[in-house]
Amino acid sequence: MTNVVVDLAARRPATSAETSEASTCTCGSGWFELRSPSGSGAVCMNEDGTITGFSGEPHCVECGTLFVVR
Ligand SMILES: [Zn+2]
Repeated sequence: MTNVVVDLAARRPATSAETSEASTCTCGSGWFELRSPSGSGAVCMNEDGTITGFSGEPHCVECGTLFVVR
């Protein structure tokens, strides 16, 4: 894997589980796919399937717009 892995735990404030809202694209879609120069992206998960990190860039599955991770 040549891309940088984004560690979501490091980006999550301690209270984010109670206050965070799902990210959406400007078109309203809440679904994104990970793309990378090698093709598709990848995710890291806990055993319960919770995503803990990802590699690649999230693009809206509806309109293809790149979602900028803050
Ligand atoms: Zn979109």
